[in-house]
Amino acid sequence: MIELDQEQRMVLSTVRNIAREKVKPKAAEIDEKEEFPWETATTFAQNGILTPLLPEEFGGIGSSYLLFSMIIEEIARVCASSALILIAQADGMLPILHSGTGELKKKYLPGLSKGLFAAFAATEPGAGSDILYMRSKASSKGGFYVLNGQKCFITNGSIADILTVFCYTDPSKGARGMSAFVVEKGFRGLVYGKNEKKMGMRGSINSELFFEDIAIPAENIIGQEGSGFAYMMEALDRSRLFAASQAVGLAQGAIDESLDYAGKRVQFGSPITSLQAIQFMMADMVAMTEAARLLTYEAARHIDADDKSMITKACAIAKFIASDNAMKVTTDAVQIMGGYGYMRDFPVERMMRDAKLIQIYTGTNQIMRLVAAREILRSQR
Ligand SMILES: Cc1cc2nc3c(=O)[nH]c(=O)nc-3n(C[C@H](O)[C@H](O)[C@H](O)COP(=O)(O)OP(=O)(O)OC[C@H]3O[C@@H](n4cnc5c(N)ncnc54)[C@H](O)[C@@H]3O)c2cc1C
Repeated sequence: MIELDQEQRMVLSTVRNIAREKVKPKAAEIDEKEEFPWETATTFAQNGILTPLLPEEFGGIGSSYLLFSMIIEEIARVCASSALILIAQADGMLPILHSGTGELKKKYLPGLSKGLFAAFAATEPGAGSDILYMRSKASSKGGFYVLNGQKCFITNGSIADILTVFCYTDPSKGARGMSAFVVEKGFRGLVYGKNEKKMGMRGSINSELFFEDIAIPAENIIGQEGSGFAYMMEALDRSRLFAASQAVGLAQGAIDESLDYAGKRVQFGSPITSLQAIQFMMADMVAMTEAARLLTYEAARHIDADDKSMITKACAIAKFIASDNAMKVTTDAVQIMGGYGYMRDFPVERMMRDAKLIQIYTGTNQIMRLVAAREILRSQR
């Protein structure tokens, strides 16, 4: 039973229409051309769903995490890359919203509902799962922090108007020596490297970024110096919920496509849906996707209730269950559709390529199991 009020149901109905009429028709093309869907992003901004979590005072709709989770799911059902626009935006925005000063929020948040883009920049070539191994460093100098270093794989990196950058301010203190800053697109010393060529999620941009003596005004620090790691972890918990929602949508989209095809595909004189082998696959695909959806909504409810002792575990579990399921379901959808499923004329091969990323980013599924296990053991102490 999903508890949404009338206004929330209206938002979701608008999102469904946008997904069907504006997002779906472009999904194959942006994948093929490896193009960022500018028009789709503009449509999201015009309809108030580019940054739904943003409170109304900053121009957003102040959505709950549950509603945002459903919005991501509806868009990912037809195009996972387009759903990633909303996810990257939220990832970049959340540390500012949660921990920024009033001034910083007033300066940077309102634009994010109107069409400016944010990005979350943590990963470096030598620091992926082991994020504390990062080398980027900002040193305080007069009224500025001077930032040097580099980042990689950053979603929306080269198109973002603002980057939430994590780096050390005092590497000798480890996690307690990390800080977070807002870096604007125009800052001198922000150098763009290559945009990656990817297996899937090709309608999204992933960039290398180089920081060459960037002078960041001291007031652009997010929250307290030395608290960046805590802000990063808080945002990552939520980002794992977003990834789970994207995975549920992707799996549902593959179910929609393969069911539709199977009902029409005749072999041995009957639709292949009359074959028990196909029926059993479908039953598993639907059952596991419904289970993943419930876990995902449950994680969203924990965040909405600010149930701090449950958020990290619930988001990690939802992320690895939903993305492992999306990988299996999209692979099975290709199998159900046989040779046609393998062809780029149908969307399921794209969905299968897109699903793989969700097992990797915002913390790999191996790391998600580590995080969940730590939380389980902690709660037993
Ligand atoms: C398309 C894409 C978009 C991304 N977007 C962003 C973004 O916007 N911002 C950002 O900051 N980052 C982003 N990332 C980075 C992403 O979060 C990392 O790729 C991810 O955390 C894994 O790091 P890695 O690639 O360095 O893999 P590694 O950390 O090198 O891992 C390699 C393998 O070793 C395993 N492994 C590593 N350590 C352990 C361990 N302790 N126990 C068990 N297994 C382990 C991993 O699970 C994996 O299988 C993105 C990545 C991709 C591919």
